[in-house]
Amino acid sequence: MSTPLTSETIRSAPKVLLHDHLDGGLRPQTVIDLAEASGYRGLSTTDAGELGIWFRDNANSGSLVRYLEGFAHTCGVMQDEAALVRVAAEAVEDLALDGVVYAEVRYAPELFTERGLTLEQIVEAVQEGFRVGVDRVAQTGRRIRIGTLLCAMRQNEGWLRIAELAVRYRDLGVVGFDIAGPEAGFPPTRGLDTFEYLRQQNAHFTIHAGEAFGLPSIWEAIQHCGAERLGHGVRIVDDIKVSGDGTVQLGRLASYVRDRRIPLEMCPTSNLQTGAATSIAEHPIGLLAKLRFRVTVNTDNRLMSYCTLSSEFERLVETFGYGWTDLQWFTVNAMKSAFIGFDERLSIINELIKPGYASFTS
Ligand SMILES: [Zn+2]
Repeated sequence: MSTPLTSETIRSAPKVLLHDHLDGGLRPQTVIDLAEASGYRGLSTTDAGELGIWFRDNANSGSLVRYLEGFAHTCGVMQDEAALVRVAAEAVEDLALDGVVYAEVRYAPELFTERGLTLEQIVEAVQEGFRVGVDRVAQTGRRIRIGTLLCAMRQNEGWLRIAELAVRYRDLGVVGFDIAGPEAGFPPTRGLDTFEYLRQQNAHFTIHAGEAFGLPSIWEAIQHCGAERLGHGVRIVDDIKVSGDGTVQLGRLASYVRDRRIPLEMCPTSNLQTGAATSIAEHPIGLLAKLRFRVTVNTDNRLMSYCTLSSEFERLVETFGYGWTDLQWFTVNAMKSAFIGFDERLSIINELIKPGYASFTS
């Protein structure tokens, strides 16, 4: 007999997260503590409950300016090494509590240099925090593996420098590179030298593409830059025609993405907040999963979206009627698409994911 899908059972299932921003996942109390310790004055309240709701409402407001204000606060309190260690360690603990067994957590080092930290100090502090977090989780008898992605900001110069940093730290926990920030006006082809460098180094990268902006952004990311995965990739549906009688026709780009098994790092709740989708039911993830694209489910910003990977799974279960087999499929998709080595991916699939889901269906 199959175990019922509840918040609790979904939380206890092994899950894999590929798209999660470090500066979008702080605990509200930590934001308050760090603001106090560093003399940061921008917060509207010192009550953790109220602050959590403020972050969510702000992100829900539909205004990008207000959405970004949330990140001004989190980045504002992440400007020294102790703060970075704490935030990174807590992120690992929170993910493990949510049942995540492998996560790739990303951030843009250049956002934490306001008080004089060097990029290297920032990367080392975050790695130290991840180590501390993994140790704490191990003490509770759980197992979690964290890979780091370093982001360059699309609107800034210096992408190559961040790519070089990712390569320099690849044996110390950094598993890949990404570009984040506004899509419109800042196409990934602005940094072709960066992506060529990464390919020459046999390094991995994903690109935020096709969230707010359409197909050209996805096409450039894959065909000009060589992205292995797409951050969001929601707009790939613009290249899929569904007729009244249910016949589906894929355009050449959508076919390519599906045929090549290019992973889509989909973040349903975050997409509702930024207007990339109007409701979970209308979210392209339903169609894309049905058409067997390599769909993965992600949180994007746990603080701003007031979500966990389990709560995203729960929303999908409620909306699309998914069962354990579907949740296992999303999870295996994500693990197959991770930037760590094949051996390690396989061992997590065989030792944690498959037995975990088997226990719910037998
Ligand atoms: Zn993102």
